[in-house]
Formats: sequence, C-alpha cells, structure tokens
Amino acid sequence: MKSITIAGGGLAGLTLGIGLRQRGVPAALWEAGHYPRHRVCGEFICGRGQETLTRLGLRDLLERAGAVDADTAAFFSATQSTGPRPLPSRAICLSRFILDATLAEKFRELGGELRVGQRWPAVGVHASACPDRRELQPEGVVRATGRRLQTEEDGARWFGLKAHVSNVPLTADLEMHVSPRGYVGLCRVNGGRVNVCGLFRRRAGESIGSQNRRELLRGPIGSPLHQRLASAEFDENSFCAVAGLSLRPYRAVARADCCIGDAITMIPPVTGNGMSMAFESAELASEPLVAWSRGEISWAETQSQIARRCDGAFARRLAWAKWLQRFVLTPSLQNMLVMFAARSDWSWRMAFEKTR
Ligand SMILES: Cc1cc2nc3c(=O)[nH]c(=O)nc-3n(C[C@H](O)[C@H](O)[C@H](O)COP(=O)(O)OP(=O)(O)OC[C@H]3O[C@@H](n4cnc5c(N)ncnc54)[C@H](O)[C@@H]3O)c2cc1C
Repeated sequence: MKSITIAGGGLAGLTLGIGLRQRGVPAALWEAGHYPRHRVCGEFICGRGQETLTRLGLRDLLERAGAVDADTAAFFSATQSTGPRPLPSRAICLSRFILDATLAEKFRELGGELRVGQRWPAVGVHASACPDRRELQPEGVVRATGRRLQTEEDGARWFGLKAHVSNVPLTADLEMHVSPRGYVGLCRVNGGRVNVCGLFRRRAGESIGSQNRRELLRGPIGSPLHQRLASAEFDENSFCAVAGLSLRPYRAVARADCCIGDAITMIPPVTGNGMSMAFESAELASEPLVAWSRGEISWAETQSQIARRCDGAFARRLAWAKWLQRFVLTPSLQNMLVMFAARSDWSWRMAFEKTR
C-alpha cells in the first residue's frame, strides 16, 4: 500500500491519521508544534463529528481523558438573557491541551509515524493560480494545517483569545455572551475548570496590549460576563491568542491542494462546529485515500472525491453560519436576538440544527 503524508497534526490531521492506521494504511504526520499545548478554542464539541468519534472508537477514549458532558446553554447580551435552555443534542467539552495529545498518542499507538516539531514545506494557494496541481503538492499529501491567515476582512481584523479559569459558577453548561466587540463563550471543561474563549473585532491600526487581553475576556464593566468572571482565577499558562482569522466560507473544490478541516475553510466559531468539521472531513477523506493507497484510483480522482464529499457535507452549514455570525456581531441586533432566543424555542433550535 502507498503511504499517505499528513501535513498538520491538529484535530483533522490526527483523526485522519487514526482512521487510516485503523485501515492498515501507512501514514506519516508532520506537526510543526508539539503536544500537549493550549490552543485558542472554545473546547465545546457538538454536532455530527461526535458520531465520527464514536465510529472511530475515540469517544470512550475522550471520556476516559476527562471530557465533560454539556446539556444546557444560556445566552446573554448587555441587557437580556435567556436563562438555561436544553441543547438540542448533547455536546462534550475537553481541553485541547488533553484532546490533541490524546489523539496524537492514539495515532502513535496504531503505528503512525509522528514527526513532532517538523513543518511541512508546501504552500497552499487557490486552484485558479496554478492549473497544474502536481506543482503544488506531491501525490499522497493531505493538507490539515488549519486556518489560513487573513490579515483584514471588510476593514476589520479578527482575533481569538482563550484562557482556563477556576472559581466561576456557570448558570448553564455553555454560556454565550455577546457584546459590540465580539462574543465570549464559557463552558465547563475537565478538571472543574471553565474555558473562557472569545472572538473579537479590531479596527485596522488599533493595537491590543497584552494587559487588555484579560479585560477583553472579562467583558465590559457591568455586563453579565464581567459579573460572572468577578472572582475568576486565571491560569496564566493556559492563556493563548490567535490573529488573522478569516470568517469567509471557502469551498474545498476551489483549493488547489488536498485539504481537510480548517485548511478548507473555518466555520464561524459562534457555531461551535469547527472541531466537528475537522473530525467529519477526516472521515470523509478516509475512503478515497484508502482507495488511492491500494492503487485503485488516481490522485486527481482522490482529491476531487474528497473535495466533493466535503463541500456536499458542509456547504449549507457554512451558509447558515455566515448569516448567524453576521447577526450575532451586529450590535443593534444583539439584544433582540437574545430576547428572541429566550421566547422562541423554535428559532434557537433551528439556528443550532442548521449550523450542524
Ligand atoms: C476563537 C475560536 C473559538 C473556537 N471555538 C470552537 C468551539 O468551541 N468548538 C469547535 O468545534 N470549534 C471551535 N473553534 C474552531 C476549531 O478550533 C477549529 O475548527 C479546529 O481546531 C480545526 O482543526 P484543524 O485540525 O483543521 O486545525 P488546527 O487544530 O488548527 O490544527 C492545524 C495544525 O497544523 C499545524 N501546522 C500548521 N502548518 C503546518 C505545517 N506547514 N507543517 C506541519 N504542521 C503545520 C499546526 O501547528 C496545528 O497543530 C474555535 C476557533 C476559534 C478561532
């Protein structure tokens, strides 16, 4: 069997590596960083990706690693709140510090070759920029390198912050707080801690000092978020930030290289579905890759099948997520949205289901 090279050992790359090894395919995975490490992420896993985890036998593994169930959510704006509402389907929450390292260990156990601290050199570009795909990536290479850098989008720059805190009582398993600056999610993770993770908008040229990062996560003085985090104890080692985020949807068929996970596109974090898409896209890619490894189909066909499968699974979700994100980030609509979610069970269930 021919070997597959996976560039990027985040959730998509590791899940793919595990799936391939379970089917006897030789796989080498290059990860530029190391394990364990904190990542900017709400650490809230919901949607169909959980079924992928179950099919790969990973769900139990994550539960043993400390994953916490989440059954309720509450939404807050400056003046409105919903109170706890049942989630239409159960989610699980687990720190990326543990999650990524657990999957990396599993991949190794299954005989995968893990090259930690090694960056894959290929650069991804748009398909139209390079008609001959073989120039971009050799056959057998799957790009799972995560989000693509976008310095500015519609005059704004997006950045994410994450920290783990203790001593925070939550009113629901997931709390989502919106403000004119962006939004912050709080959820319980392993070890009795709470993940505090936010997406924020910055105007071009505006700088955010490191001191201000904690204040951004705490929210405006007087807000429900600020009150919730009043006695929070921050774990300084867990603090991390990421900038250059793109919230625009892209299609896999438009990518010149063979991609999975955020390397295709990043779904707006407000949906809490990016990790699910990473797991799902890895599973969708497995079958064509196994066929290529056995010499049954060409690399061009493999890449095309993977792209079509991913676009088929994600296009509608991404379209809904784009609108949801736009509404949530429009300050004049925030109070109304939370009020609506409080009064209409149907609208909140629909927004949840359409983005998953
Ligand atoms: C603020 C914020 C909050 C979020 N909250 C949630 C949430 O609550 N729930 C949810 O489901 N999703 C959430 N997400 C999205 C989620 O984190 C991503 O969708 C998910 O991590 C994508 O997985 P991935 O494997 O595609 O990419 P990543 O997890 O980013 O992994 C990519 C990996 O590739 C490595 N890499 C990059 N370049 C190279 C290279 N050239 N060679 C080798 N290695 C390389 C990187 O080091 C990294 O480890 C959030 C995102 C943000 C920004």
